[in-house]
Amino acid sequence: MSKVLVAIDKSGSFRVHLSITTDMCREAARIHETTPVASAGLGRVLTGTALMSSMLGEPDNRLTVQFKGDGPARQIMACADGNGNVKGYIANPNVDLPLNNGKLDVGGSLGIGELTVIRDMGLGEPYSGTIALVSGEIAEDLAAYYFISEQQNTSVALGVKVGEDMNILVSAGMFVQMLPGFDEGAVDALEKILGDMPPITTVAEEAQLRSAGKSEEGVLEDMLGSIFNSLPEEYSLEKLDTKDVRWHCDCSRDRMKGALATINPQDLREIIDEDGKAELSCNFCRSKYEFDKEELETIYSFMQKGESI
Ligand SMILES: [Zn+2]
Repeated sequence: MSKVLVAIDKSGSFRVHLSITTDMCREAARIHETTPVASAGLGRVLTGTALMSSMLGEPDNRLTVQFKGDGPARQIMACADGNGNVKGYIANPNVDLPLNNGKLDVGGSLGIGELTVIRDMGLGEPYSGTIALVSGEIAEDLAAYYFISEQQNTSVALGVKVGEDMNILVSAGMFVQMLPGFDEGAVDALEKILGDMPPITTVAEEAQLRSAGKSEEGVLEDMLGSIFNSLPEEYSLEKLDTKDVRWHCDCSRDRMKGALATINPQDLREIIDEDGKAELSCNFCRSKYEFDKEELETIYSFMQKGESI
């Protein structure tokens, strides 16, 4: 379980969402057996999605963030709900590329492509926006998405630090979003601070060292202070809320059965006649679900009758 700390400045010009997501990203890396560059790409997308989920209004609101490119990683996708449940996968968890300027080459792993964000607020048609990838480095792309699709100025920092043993050492992220009617002065003050900021993973590690023994909320407050304490008094930050985020996959046998029921009836007939069973695995958590002949026949007969399962 991780926390997202939400804070707002005194003038109401901007809001900050900040989180250390190491547990979530380690769980994803363990499940998907990712290479370092895949851990970094998937971890950044999960962290960004977790932070975006903390902006959803209602527990049953849902969010899908999908990066697709012509690079070897092909696709990184994450989903979250308003309760802070986050899940994700990378199409090619074995992607391996040389370092680019000493850094894991997430942009190179995605290549040229697009980012799609779908928000389902439970009110009819989900809202969907697609932009071309800026760099494929995730944070820049999410910032561009907010600017282009939602006309919101957002600064995004995402980082996943992978150790020499290939384990994730720390993962963290921050969104700073301008609010309607913001002060111009706040933009200038923020630009200075964010321009000079060390990598978010360094800020997180230093706060963890300083605040060893404190609660996670305490560490996040320390982190927030270390980033923003030089802001002028009128833009000083006040804590608004903390929200929980965690890795959680909500797949189930029933859901998988529903997915089976959407395939072409002829294909299902073939599976029944040739294999006599079907095994489906969840893209997100890799859980496997087996369906025997009898179950498949039942689904097939429902299909024939034109009924839903
Ligand atoms: Zn699952």
